[in-house]
Amino acid sequence: MKRRVLLIGAGGLGAPAALALAASGASMTLVIVDDDRVERTNLHRQILFTEQDIGRSKAETAAAFLRERFSADVEVYEERFVPESAQRLLEGVSLVLEGSDNFPTKFLAADACFLSGIPTVHGAALRWYGTALAVAGERGRGACYRCLFEAPPLEEAPTCADAGVIGPAVGLVGAAQAALALRVLAGEDDAFGTLVTVDGHAKIIQRKRHVRARRDCTLCGERALPPRLAPEDYLGPTCGGEA
Ligand SMILES: [Zn+2]
Repeated sequence: MKRRVLLIGAGGLGAPAALALAASGASMTLVIVDDDRVERTNLHRQILFTEQDIGRSKAETAAAFLRERFSADVEVYEERFVPESAQRLLEGVSLVLEGSDNFPTKFLAADACFLSGIPTVHGAALRWYGTALAVAGERGRGACYRCLFEAPPLEEAPTCADAGVIGPAVGLVGAAQAALALRVLAGEDDAFGTLVTVDGHAKIIQRKRHVRARRDCTLCGERALPPRLAPEDYLGPTCGGEA
C-alpha cells in the first residue's frame, strides 16, 4: 500500500521538503495540512509559490504545483492541526513532517504522533539558525521531541515577523527534514534521534549528531503517562520558528 506522509505546514519548511519528497520518486501520498494563504512576504522562502499565488490557499497551490511538476499524489486538508483534529488527520499516516510555525503545534504533533506510534521529522528555523530532528514515535528507539525541548516556553518567543527568517537557512532545514524522512521511509532506523543543526553564519553550516533519550522525559520516559491531547495543554506563545 502507498504510504501516507503528512506535512503539517506548507510554508518555509514544508515547501522545500514537499518539493524534495515529490521529486524523490519514492512511492507515497503527500497529505498537506495548512489553512494559510500565500502572502508576498512568504515568497523569498516558500519556493512553491509565485506572485500570482498571493491570496491563494497554500495547501491547494502547493498540491497543484507538485501534481503538475512531478505527477505527485497529493491530498489537501485546508485546516489546522489542533488537538480536536490531530487523531483524525493522523489516521493511516506512516510518517509526519512537522513544519509548523508555533510551539503549541510542534508539541501537539510530538505528543499525538507518539500516542499513535508514528515517526515524525520535526523542523524549526529562525534568522540564520534551524534544527531538524527525526523521532521514532516509540519508547526505546532514540530521543523524542520532549527529550530535547522538554516543554513549550512560558514566555513569548521571538516571532518570525519580528526576528525574520533567512530563506537559504530555512530551505536547508526543510531539505534536511526531507532527507531524514526518506531515510525513515527506507527503514534506516539509525535516522531516529538524529538532530541536524543549521547555522548560516558558522564555518560548518550543517552539523549532525545523535541525541539520546532522557529517562525522565515527560513523553517517552519510564514513568511518563500517555498524553491527553487536551486543548488547554497546547496554549502559549504562537511562534516557534518558521512556517
Ligand atoms: Zn522523550
